[in-house]
Amino acid sequence: MQYINGLWTDAGGATFASLNPANGTVLWEGKAAQQAEVAAAVAAAREAFPAWAAHPPAERYAICSAFKDIMDAHREELTQMIAQETGKALWDAASEVMAVVAKLTYAHEAYVERTGVKSRTSPVGNAVVRHRPHGVMAVYGPYNFPAHLPNGHIIPALLAGNTVVFKPSEQTPMVGQWYVKQWEKAGLPPGVLNLVQGERETGIALANAAIDGVLFTGSSATGKALHAQFAGRPEILLALEMGGNNALIFHSTADMRAAVHETLLSAFVGTGQRCTCARRLIVIEGQQSDRYIDSLVHSAQQLRVGPYDADPAPFMGPVISNKEAQRLLDAQLDLQSRGGALLLEMKRHDPNLPFVSPAIIDMTGVKDVPDEEYFGPLLQIFRVKTREDALLLANNSRFGLSAAVLSKEHAEFQWFSERLKAGLINWNRQTTGASGAGPFGGVGISGNHRPAGYYSADYCAYPVASVEVDTLTLPAQLPPGMDIVA
Ligand code: NAD
Repeated sequence: MQYINGLWTDAGGATFASLNPANGTVLWEGKAAQQAEVAAAVAAAREAFPAWAAHPPAERYAICSAFKDIMDAHREELTQMIAQETGKALWDAASEVMAVVAKLTYAHEAYVERTGVKSRTSPVGNAVVRHRPHGVMAVYGPYNFPAHLPNGHIIPALLAGNTVVFKPSEQTPMVGQWYVKQWEKAGLPPGVLNLVQGERETGIALANAAIDGVLFTGSSATGKALHAQFAGRPEILLALEMGGNNALIFHSTADMRAAVHETLLSAFVGTGQRCTCARRLIVIEGQQSDRYIDSLVHSAQQLRVGPYDADPAPFMGPVISNKEAQRLLDAQLDLQSRGGALLLEMKRHDPNLPFVSPAIIDMTGVKDVPDEEYFGPLLQIFRVKTREDALLLANNSRFGLSAAVLSKEHAEFQWFSERLKAGLINWNRQTTGASGAGPFGGVGISGNHRPAGYYSADYCAYPVASVEVDTLTLPAQLPPGMDIVA
């Protein structure tokens, strides 16, 4: 179903379906929105924009707050849906729901703090800065966080007074549809948030429609295509949150089990399907490195893989689709053929379902390592002699999303944090651990310098600077050559 101007209707394009990756059953089936339907959604958002932008901020906040309360009251339902549609373990899906519920508090604080009204006296008058919404924002979501990441764009966009056309990932339309229904219940006026479903073609149609901005979270390949599409159109706002080839650096630890725990979470949480997952583990050789790698491999081998609702609970579920499972197995083979040594082999026991076990491959000394994001539980290890080697290797990537350093010494972390090319750099914490209180984004091909998270407020509004004086007076001295005749 699509949701345009407050009405739920069937779209007219090709039928597509969303499957439960844990068992292959159909969860959702619907038709893709075609160009005319996408245009109608954008027109509805355009029509709704002036009134929504003119709503007092407190009223916009009140509706967002009602939405938050609904989400809070339906945590369990949303957790189940996310787990079913993405394959995430229930505990992992529940953490996504927590992030959805927590969003408004951070987004509202950021809206006030970063885009509020500021005024100061200046020699030419009162210098005032206010912020205004852009207009109609197209929001694109990835499949790995089907509620949290679109929500991370939608809440700040609505708070700021924009209207939205949302296109969920074609792999998670069920969660997308449910999410929009909760906004309807919260009393959002018709046209303020619209939903179009579909695959890549629908995404392209939306980017081609008369929008004012694109708030995108997804792969670097798609983000790059969007960037190219809008080249020469500076009037369109582009906020692109993309992938990573993230490095986790092991230096030293006072607690080996804790270090392995953070490493497992970095590489394999969400079955390795988080943009911030560590793809490259760089181990600086020392007294602890052999023990660390041994313990990591043995612990990874024991990670429980299974359906989201299995008892006992799994650590990780399947990847999103059979196609992705095959892609990961192919990548493993490719890394092996380049000289990588498998420390732990990725296996797929059922060729009809996308469950894969974690893989660890030692790529030390391999010359031609692809700088790719393998979006799954496939970790490459590189052993190096010095921190300078570690840094060089970590920064030898087109991407620059997240990184982390495991070290007993703050000075080591500081040295790396001043030099690593990434937008998120943690110390003794998993690469995947980000706080909603901070900005979230990367450099290189991981983003376009418009971080989301706490800084989403910045791309949801533009500043208007004014110089203001309440009484117009003629200066005592006129510029040379000027006389006022009245
Ligand atoms: P994707 O790029 O395949 O799809 C994202 C969205 O873009 C989908 O709605 C898709 O239909 C649409 N789309 C695809 N091609 C398009 C085109 N040419 N024009 C317009 N729209 C198009 O991403 P995905 O596979 O769903 O998500 C996984 C990726 O997302 C990974 O690369 C991951 O690293 C990244 N990701 C990034 C962040 C971040 O905040 N940086 C967070 C989560 C996921």
